[in-house]
Amino acid sequence: MVELETKPDVERCLDRVEAWWHREILDRPPVTLAVRSGREPRKIPTHHATLRDRWMDVEYAIDCAEARIEAAAFVAETFPKYHPNLGPEVCATCYGAELEFSEGTTWSVPILDTIGGALRRQPDLETPLIKGTTGVVVLTSAESKPRPTYGCISCGRCLDACPVFLNPTSLGLLAQAARFEEMEEEYHLADCMLCGSCSYVCPSNIPLSQMFGMAKAQLYRLKTRAA
Ligand code: SF4
Ligand code: SF4
Repeated sequence: MVELETKPDVERCLDRVEAWWHREILDRPPVTLAVRSGREPRKIPTHHATLRDRWMDVEYAIDCAEARIEAAAFVAETFPKYHPNLGPEVCATCYGAELEFSEGTTWSVPILDTIGGALRRQPDLETPLIKGTTGVVVLTSAESKPRPTYGCISCGRCLDACPVFLNPTSLGLLAQAARFEEMEEEYHLADCMLCGSCSYVCPSNIPLSQMFGMAKAQLYRLKTRAA
């Protein structure tokens, strides 16, 4: 556990971010700045035989992350974080690819000869996290208690919350009516990235993004059956 001694104003910064999510501003809007501190991180000795061994050594990775955090500057609402920086192709390992390890990142060894081969491969669903997982939301037990669902009151909060400017209200009504093709053709369901923002803000607790995920799956099934 890294003490937040490198970010003594963390509580105030978190308050600013929290207020922002509630469409309020405290003393100023939250700001994130990437700047170099000018300090060199402490060197962590390595005695690994191969780059693969080094990458797979979790203790070593944590020591290096701590050293980088100690030497970094966390200005305004920029928070200390650890990013393992596994390469962009790490999700290919779910399909059986091996990784090649370099100093700064990883690359997958190609396993496909033709594009058709991609369609025949099945992912290994035992893999808990892939690169496509961009965030994990951790809720307290109180926050994760089931909440009753009510009808849509046309408040428009989900429209304001959608980062890709979709219409979750209409999409939700169509999903409830199993009108999946209309969702795709007229309301751009394919652009929905299932971020969950609409569900989170909905005062009626309508599980919008969950319904959109199911609609996408249903459309996929309909298309593969028709092919
Ligand atoms: S889950 Fe889809 S519709 Fe809802 S806010 Fe995210 S992108 Fe928009
Ligand atoms: S946030 Fe919920 S209640 Fe409000 S318009 Fe969207 S679906 Fe309806």
